[in-house]
Amino acid sequence: MKMLITGGAGFIGSALIRYLIENTEHQVLNIDKLTYASNLVCLKSIENHPRYQFQQIDICDKAMFNIVNNFEPTIIMHLAAESHVDRSIDSGLPFIQTNIVGTFNLLEAARHYYSTLDKDKKANFRFHHISTDEVYGDLEGTNALFNEQTPYQPSSPYSATKASADHLVRAWHRTYGLPVVITNCSNNYGYYQFPEKLIPLIILNALDGQPLPIYGTGEQIRDWLFVDDHVKALYLVATQGKIGETYNIGGHNEVKNIDVVKNICRILDKLRPKDYLHESLIIFVTDRPGHDARYAIDATKIEKELGWQPQETFETGLQKTVEWYWANLDWCQRVLHSNYDRQRLGSQSN
Ligand code: NAD
Repeated sequence: MKMLITGGAGFIGSALIRYLIENTEHQVLNIDKLTYASNLVCLKSIENHPRYQFQQIDICDKAMFNIVNNFEPTIIMHLAAESHVDRSIDSGLPFIQTNIVGTFNLLEAARHYYSTLDKDKKANFRFHHISTDEVYGDLEGTNALFNEQTPYQPSSPYSATKASADHLVRAWHRTYGLPVVITNCSNNYGYYQFPEKLIPLIILNALDGQPLPIYGTGEQIRDWLFVDDHVKALYLVATQGKIGETYNIGGHNEVKNIDVVKNICRILDKLRPKDYLHESLIIFVTDRPGHDARYAIDATKIEKELGWQPQETFETGLQKTVEWYWANLDWCQRVLHSNYDRQRLGSQSN
């Protein structure tokens, strides 16, 4: 099969591409604008593989029509996005542009291409939109879980643009018959995550003896999923998901931010003992405006219908992640020095 992946130089997209090249026979075209959040080093291990191609382009560009037509994808997996909530609060326009206008442009390119296909190729074609659980809003004060019927109530500019994109994708299915699948996933963590998100930021600051900033009191709850488990779920949905359906993906790992940070500290205390406990570096900073208190996913549908189960617990995945960052400090330094403003010390929930 031919897989067109957007955002393949980002955290999840690069993990997906490494998985596709290493575990399948598919051809992969990676489309990425290479924003601050991207890093082609994540793809070093497969960059010269004969089944892999890369093209640097903005998904908002009309040239996407020709790119899709020329590559003739069987499946488009759309991950490209502005993904950082704090940046969306500082400046929403890039989020509107990429997450809404870019998704619209890609849907139109896919619709045009789909209309040229014969019956057999039409039957195989899929447009898989990769979205987030943040579109559902906040579960504060309840024990409820997000399921595929939960109404949308996004809180941040980021989640509002992702919700808009989800609506566009559903409309292109209903109005134009474009064969789509959508996934809404909880917070990911793992190797090669850009070091302004909570887990890599805390690991790197702790290794550096720097303060470990936590928003508010750190009571916010996220449902953490190891990125490789997400990637396997994405591949299952893209290839076996039912057209027009949505699948929630989550790791059954509800953890408070403060406990995430304390767990990282405990791992580092053992891995790299110091004459102080890493927890002593924790500081509390002013909370993010509109900060959602709790997200939690009901992943029953993907588990029952597609047989997916996460393989990592939060403990095993976090241990691997901390060890990876410690062993790859050169990658982190390169990313930090090339694209990251170290002044941004706010601790990120997602
Ligand atoms: P990321 O920020 O690490 O990567 C995004 C990639 O998209 C980058 O490589 C960037 O260069 C590229 N990109 C941005 N704008 C573009 C444009 N206009 N044209 C082409 N490429 C562009 O994001 P991520 O964490 O890998 O997330 C990938 C997708 O998964 C996003 O759609 C996000 O909403 C969704 N998601 C992420 C999480 C998470 O915890 N990280 C959870 C659920 C869903």
